[in-house]
Amino acid sequence: MSIIQNAIDSIQIGIEDYQDGDDRRSVSAVRNISAGILLLYKDKLCQLSPDENKELLIKQNIRPVQNESGDIVFEGKGNKTVDVQSIKERFKSLNVSVDWGRFDEINKLRNDLEHYYTAKSPDAVREIVAKSFLLIRDFLADYLDKDPQKTLGDDAWAILLEVSEVYSAEEKSCKASIDAIEWQYDSVLDSLKHLRCGQCHSSLIQAPNNEDCYPRITFHCKSCNFDFFFDDVVEQCIDDSLAGEAHYAIKDGGESPYENCPECNQSTFIHSEKCCVSCGYKMEYVNCEICEEPLSIEEQYNEGKCSYCQYKWEKMLAE
Ligand SMILES: [Zn+2]
Ligand SMILES: [Zn+2]
Ligand SMILES: [Zn+2]
Repeated sequence: MSIIQNAIDSIQIGIEDYQDGDDRRSVSAVRNISAGILLLYKDKLCQLSPDENKELLIKQNIRPVQNESGDIVFEGKGNKTVDVQSIKERFKSLNVSVDWGRFDEINKLRNDLEHYYTAKSPDAVREIVAKSFLLIRDFLADYLDKDPQKTLGDDAWAILLEVSEVYSAEEKSCKASIDAIEWQYDSVLDSLKHLRCGQCHSSLIQAPNNEDCYPRITFHCKSCNFDFFFDDVVEQCIDDSLAGEAHYAIKDGGESPYENCPECNQSTFIHSEKCCVSCGYKMEYVNCEICEEPLSIEEQYNEGKCSYCQYKWEKMLAE
């Protein structure tokens, strides 16, 4: 059977699993749909492979060899087929563009789902199916020259379309309720992209009371009806939002954009906001009184001097 047919079968079986509504089959739905997406990508790699070796580009290891007429050609080594990282690299050099941000998000959701699955997660599953649908539809049309509806069949198409419409309508209404709140800090509003229910992991979270005053804001999960507070999740959201940036900043010898707050002990002190977005703590001393360099949280104990000036000061006193 061809790879594209395997891909379509896998996606269709996934949709059947999804419709079944049984908990365990939801996990299998997500697995089958993800496997189907990867097979679509592999099909594209086969299409792009040279005529004399149509499976070349799906081999994980490719090496140059000299053929009988002395020309250099490439051949696949071993039976291992490409992993996700290699598909990304090959698509990049072959100018096939996939929304990898969305793909990685789906993969992360799928891992989370397999670890935290509860009977209360139907919307988390719906989210994955909805997001996968967009990837599948675009890839079929843009790179495999196929009509997505004909290829997937009317039944599967209708289900995917409905799931995706329901999900995006709910997503919109949740976002509108969150946008209606006065968030005070841009970095906080930004971090709410990562907001998820602690019980069922759905991203369909509303802020039901638009008169709530920062930071006392109530959240409500539309999937499992769990109620919680901004306070309960602010640290996680900030971490999800800034950890990547912090990693690169520190690697380059710079400063993390956020750190631990001495007042509330959460990692919610954000330098660009000059305060802790959870408890409102501000640094008492902003610049060194001697050299005027900006001071860090640790340097607050020196009562207005940076650690270097403090060191020189202590040395002078000792002499
Ligand atoms: Zn929930
Ligand atoms: Zn704080
Ligand atoms: Zn100084």
